[in-house]
Amino acid sequence: MTTFKDLGLAPEILEALTEVGYETPSPIQEQAIPTLLEGRDMIGQAQTGSGKTAAFGLPLLNYVDASDPDVQALVLTPTRELCIQVTQAIRSYGAKKGIDVVAVFGGAPIKTQQAQLRSGGQVVVGTVGRVKDLISRHSLVLHSCRFVVLDEADEMLDLGFLEDVEKILSLTPSSRQTALFSATMPPEIRNLSEKYLYEPALVKVQAENLTVDTVEQFSLEVPRKDKPDALAAVLKAERPGQAIVFMRTKIGCDQLFRKLKNEGMKVLIATDVAARGLDVSTVTHVINFDVPNSPDTYVHRIGRTGRVGRSGRAVTFYEPKQDTDLAAIEKHTGITMGKWSSGATTIPQKTTAPPKRHEKPKIEAKPDAPAKQDGPLQRLIASVGKDDGVEVRDIIAALTKVGLQGEQIHNVKVLGRFSLLEVPQSEAERVCREASGSKVGNAELKLEVAGG
Ligand code: AMP
Repeated sequence: MTTFKDLGLAPEILEALTEVGYETPSPIQEQAIPTLLEGRDMIGQAQTGSGKTAAFGLPLLNYVDASDPDVQALVLTPTRELCIQVTQAIRSYGAKKGIDVVAVFGGAPIKTQQAQLRSGGQVVVGTVGRVKDLISRHSLVLHSCRFVVLDEADEMLDLGFLEDVEKILSLTPSSRQTALFSATMPPEIRNLSEKYLYEPALVKVQAENLTVDTVEQFSLEVPRKDKPDALAAVLKAERPGQAIVFMRTKIGCDQLFRKLKNEGMKVLIATDVAARGLDVSTVTHVINFDVPNSPDTYVHRIGRTGRVGRSGRAVTFYEPKQDTDLAAIEKHTGITMGKWSSGATTIPQKTTAPPKRHEKPKIEAKPDAPAKQDGPLQRLIASVGKDDGVEVRDIIAALTKVGLQGEQIHNVKVLGRFSLLEVPQSEAERVCREASGSKVGNAELKLEVAGG
């Protein structure tokens, strides 16, 4: 497992990373950091959420000389929001090294930003329009700028900033190092790279495969001191086939391990180091004993269960003051977690808007509650998915052929390689038996009870 230290970062930067709680590099960081530290130009194809800000921010900070007041690095962003976000991140990564980071963006008084630039700003993060404006007023001088980043370059071009970006690049030293990050690579981005980057390395990461759709997710508010008891209660009620319990620190893991061992419980306890790269395809349950320190970490943690063809369950403990952390995770995944109770079987709902803290979880609205006459529902897994050209109506058609009514088929979700649905428990076995073997889309249907 690669560490940030292995990537060649300076001690002050490593110290700051410990402070912000990053334990291991994300895939884009693992590839981009050594490349940029070598001094090479780079094209990074990565989305927000991949950890791209640290991927360019850390090498940039590694190079900046804290004793030199000149602007040494410039990060261009398409929007004000991204500008502020990137500034905050880079400030936190550069704090121990004493690096001054200034944000410049439109819609705010230019005089204040001019004053900030006069009094420092070794790293400037700015929106294209405001940067150009400040250059033309001689408030931003780029002759010592040896590092330039174009963040979300495709968006910059979509917003019509190509000409301005080219103008700004032409005002920086030709010996500069340039990194371009973009989620997509349309021809305009390729042209720009060819013109302004020198033999760039291409670093590409797959968008994180959010397996969260196949995982039933719950949260449980627990004061810190009660967590071990709550864990015992959850394990007792859930009776997991195989569970991983995630904690933030190794010390915590050791203590909890001893306690559970004394009580005769066998579970795997891990820190986030284990969350990346660990592939335990039989894991049925993930318990977040501590709230993950970022939404991305949450996805990595619960991605240990709900692997292809299986459904999993995840329970996240949060302490009374951590409801904002939970809200951030729900916003990132688009899922409102159900409140865990020993009988919790409800399925989380996809949401489009971030859940409000005071709102009751949507699942209590019972839109998918079983119709009275059906009794309890059973979740099934169908072996066909979008990749087979299957749509929801194909699954429904296959089931109505074996005698189910349309309204008895609930929560059909067609995913890439398989689909999930629910039918009355009393019909589940018969339906699996009779519908399996029929043709759906281009593939043969195999239908099984989830977790069975
Ligand atoms: P970004 O894609 O740069 O917007 O980062 C997405 C989120 O992941 C932010 O909340 C970062 O603070 C967090 N993050 C970035 N890198 C790491 C890491 N190596 N470990 C844990 N969290 C990270």
